[in-house]
Amino acid sequence: LLFDLDGFKAVNDSLGHSGGDEVLKVVADRLSKCLDEGWEAARLSGDEFAVLIPDGADPLQATAVAERAIRAIEEPILLRDQVTHISASVGIKLSDGNSSVEQMLRNADLALYDAKANGRGHARLFTHDLRRAANDRATTAMELQDAFEDGDLELYYQPQVRLRDGALVGAEALIRWNYPYRGVLSPAAFLPVLESGPLAVPVGNWILSTACRQAARWRAEGLSDFRIGVNLFAAQLRSPDFVETVVQTLAECGLPAEALELEVTENIILRKEGATISHLAKLRSMGVGIAFDDFGTGYASLTMLKEIAITRLKVDRSFVREIEWSGKDQAIVDAIARMAKGCDLTVIAEGIETEEQADLMRDYADEGQGYLYGRPMTARAFEEHHGL
Ligand code: C2E
Ligand code: CA
Ligand code: CA
Ligand code: CA
Repeated sequence: LLFDLDGFKAVNDSLGHSGGDEVLKVVADRLSKCLDEGWEAARLSGDEFAVLIPDGADPLQATAVAERAIRAIEEPILLRDQVTHISASVGIKLSDGNSSVEQMLRNADLALYDAKANGRGHARLFTHDLRRAANDRATTAMELQDAFEDGDLELYYQPQVRLRDGALVGAEALIRWNYPYRGVLSPAAFLPVLESGPLAVPVGNWILSTACRQAARWRAEGLSDFRIGVNLFAAQLRSPDFVETVVQTLAECGLPAEALELEVTENIILRKEGATISHLAKLRSMGVGIAFDDFGTGYASLTMLKEIAITRLKVDRSFVREIEWSGKDQAIVDAIARMAKGCDLTVIAEGIETEEQADLMRDYADEGQGYLYGRPMTARAFEEHHGL
């Protein structure tokens, strides 16, 4: 059994000098009290503990002990007149008689990783599916590296129109992978691997420069006010030279800052990392647009609209889908529109598929995007579509 404390670093930071060590002592003590006869606990490193159980223990028993230990660890800890809460996640690998210790630890670690992916305070038993999924992720990561080097990644462009008169005002760039023999892969198939791996920043920079170059070309060819929307990975916004990269890209492409709109999601904004927020503020002050993507679907508090330099709300597709029948959706979209007006933000509606949806959304949003106006398409198709 591999135990790892959730959020230990934050607890350690808040308690100050050696406070973390005292918490670890309490945890080790509680852990040892939960163990059956003949079971042994050891601190592995940092905030990880291993519990060794005798051969022949059954999965139910091992899981039950892990759950019991998690509940014990979650009890409030009173230290230095301060109540501290900590929780733990557990990965379990039972011996199959022919695995080495290293293999067992690696597999327990996979189970632990899976437990953590499901939130705090869970125990997970290793299964071969986990190994398969990990191998798939590793394969996808390697293939992505190849695809990036071989030029198999491509940007598609989806038109954005002014709802009042249907005029084209810009496009959102969306990544696709031209996968040999399998056709075009949608981001859902590879984005999780891409955004959490070492390619996030290089691929993200490539997306930014490719999209900006394309936009500059289309502006020169007659779409004089054309604006391009580019989605960001969290890793890009966190990287210290992000502002510099954007400035340089705009200069190289000859694209004015106003013609670029960066799309950020709540996952990025919610982290409230100082660097991220100041990067956005700097870019905003240069004239770059900042759109809050998938607005209304997550946990962001409305205060964020004050704290973060946003210029536009993208009303999520889920509110548009049933807008014709759903009074609730209409009320929500109406409230978003009023709030945006008061905060000096513009609004764009995602996922408009029918004329009826467009008619209704005209009251609430300046612009729209969706299959009604065009699916995401290659640059070439985009040009044909708009007579360039
Ligand atoms: P998103 O930013 O919310 O992008 C909009 C998604 O909605 C796109 O899916 C688009 O194809 C789809 N869509 C647009 N109009 C309609 C419609 O009328 N009906 C329906 N049902 N769907 C519509 P896609 O291209 O599969 O992208 C999925 C997500 O992957 C994006 O969601 C975005 O979060 C991410 N993504 C895509 N390309 C990039 C990229 O270049 N960089 C980054 N960082 N993320 C990207
Ligand atoms: Ca940890
Ligand atoms: Ca987007
Ligand atoms: Ca969106």
